Amino acid sequence: MTDVAVIGGGIAGCATAAFLAEAGAAVTLYERDTIAAGASGRNSGVVQHPMDPALEPLHDASLELYAGLGHGFAFPAEPAGLLVVAEDRALLTAGLGAARARFPALAPEWLEGAALHAAEPSLAADLCAVRLATGRPVPPAAATRAWADRARAAGARIVEGEPAGLARRDGRAAGVRAGGRLHPAGAVVVAAGPWTAAAVGARPEWRPVVALWGVVAQVRLPAPPRHTVEQAGVESLTEPGGGPASLFSVVTADGMSAVGSTFTPDEPDAAAIAPLLLERGTRYLPALRGAAIESVRACARPLSADGRPLLGPAEGVEGLHLVTGHGPWGISLGPGSARLVADGVMGGSARIPPELAAARFGAP
Ligand SMILES: Cc1cc2nc3c(=O)[nH]c(=O)nc-3n(C[C@H](O)[C@H](O)[C@H](O)COP(=O)(O)OP(=O)(O)OC[C@H]3O[C@@H](n4cnc5c(N)ncnc54)[C@H](O)[C@@H]3O)c2cc1C
Repeated sequence: MTDVAVIGGGIAGCATAAFLAEAGAAVTLYERDTIAAGASGRNSGVVQHPMDPALEPLHDASLELYAGLGHGFAFPAEPAGLLVVAEDRALLTAGLGAARARFPALAPEWLEGAALHAAEPSLAADLCAVRLATGRPVPPAAATRAWADRARAAGARIVEGEPAGLARRDGRAAGVRAGGRLHPAGAVVVAAGPWTAAAVGARPEWRPVVALWGVVAQVRLPAPPRHTVEQAGVESLTEPGGGPASLFSVVTADGMSAVGSTFTPDEPDAAAIAPLLLERGTRYLPALRGAAIESVRACARPLSADGRPLLGPAEGVEGLHLVTGHGPWGISLGPGSARLVADGVMGGSARIPPELAAARFGAP
């Protein structure tokens, strides 16, 4: 039996722990806080296509894995639809052509005027939009908690309130240090989100994953949007010079609408930013004017330098595997990534594509 230690109780760590335990490994997962304490419990709550061909297989695999997740997880059978909206047609027309060529299965459709109003009456009148057949809303922490339950049911031990760090010996992963002592393990999976470099004890120059903080404000609208609605531009987050500091989005699950979001390197003052999100959001969704904020949350996306996750064996440390760097798409891709990484730990045949391999960023 392989002994595996997993560091991090977000969606990446919990799903990996579940697959490892189901494959027969003796798994202990260490979470410094509580399960889903990070972005995995505080996100906007939508399983959505990442619009990057390299990530499409992870998304497809995740959809299948969610459909069979169980443990109380209710996954919408059909997507509610995503409306990418803009005030300026030019911002959307190029994207529409590209989407039609690259992702025909998403049935990209141009909407404006009466057609847009009929599809989504809650939007401001003068916008244009591209509708994509994706976007399944799920309450923010629901997926991660269900993966944690599934891991426990398969025999994984989950230790909360316990920070852990990789222990190395002779160029290989010897286990983890937690609670002041060494816990030996045959393999270590680090899924510590934006804090992965610290958990690995990496060289200061090795920082392929950074925090990109976001704020979400929750409101209850009398007639919430039927679709997930997103301001055009999320794909520019990893462009040279940085992406936008704020983009409007709204996702409705269980009657609550999560209005987002910001993209900043430092932890924001969520209470101060939330009213601004609503104010800017009225440009797209007039019903947000005067809406009462029921709750506010902030969390950090683990964004990699090229916007794609780091999966599998780390360079130069035998027995160390990573599953991190999902940026704005961790709920949408995490289970698919976890499946690949767990298979690799157990010596299976699944191949991690080079453009997603953790080793592309060198030795930690
Ligand atoms: C505002 C916002 C909205 C988002 N909306 C969506 C969305 O709608 N759909 C989508 O697909 N994605 C969304 N995302 C992205 C998604 O939330 C993340 O990509 C995903 O949650 C990352 O999961 P993770 O498990 O890699 O990291 P995390 O959730 O950050 O989990 C890492 C865990 O590791 C723990 N940890 C760290 N260091 C240690 C240590 N040394 N020892 C033990 N534990 C440690 C942390 O406490 C944390 O619980 C959103 C992100 C933000 C910020």
